[in-house]
Amino acid sequence: MKKSLTYEVDNVTYEVEVTYKRIKRLYLTFKGDKFIFRVPYFTSEKTLRNMLDKYARKLLKRASVTPAWGNDYVYVFGEKETLKEGYDQKIIKEELKESLYKYCLKRLREIEVEMNISLPYKLKIKDVKSKFGSNSKATHTIVIALNMVHFSYPIIDSVIYHELAHHFHFDHSKAFYRTLLTYCPNYYTYRKMCIRRIYR
Ligand SMILES: [Zn+2]
Repeated sequence: MKKSLTYEVDNVTYEVEVTYKRIKRLYLTFKGDKFIFRVPYFTSEKTLRNMLDKYARKLLKRASVTPAWGNDYVYVFGEKETLKEGYDQKIIKEELKESLYKYCLKRLREIEVEMNISLPYKLKIKDVKSKFGSNSKATHTIVIALNMVHFSYPIIDSVIYHELAHHFHFDHSKAFYRTLLTYCPNYYTYRKMCIRRIYR
């Protein structure tokens, strides 16, 4: 039996995969981009969350995932920017949202030309955790996750390429990736960086 949860550390949401088994003890690891539990049947969610509270940071540290936000810093476009301790994250997030919007709008227009897309997309930056971007066919809108602001420019571009490739293919078929890789040959490298939170 499997279940999936999410768990947040320093404002970053991670997927948590839970497998229930006939075992006596709880096992927790961090692999790739998610936490993985193997636990006895009927282990409560509270128990899982307590265990994550206790070990998540240690495991992330061991996996050398750098949190985008720290006590006195934030990663912005791949650079570590110093912040005054006790900063107001809400205010900074608003600023980051604006910077990301500006950058993405400029690149969106350029990449549309590159990919021969004649009707310009609307752009939205959203504070979503579950994905890096999305393309809404119905509203002709590209959404970029606010979290992308932590990454260097080429990594952000790769998400724009991905979403614009959906202009031609609405699934993640081979044809989709063929189009995507034509315009963004290093896509897989950048994708891995997104998942592993390597900001530059
Ligand atoms: Zn996609």
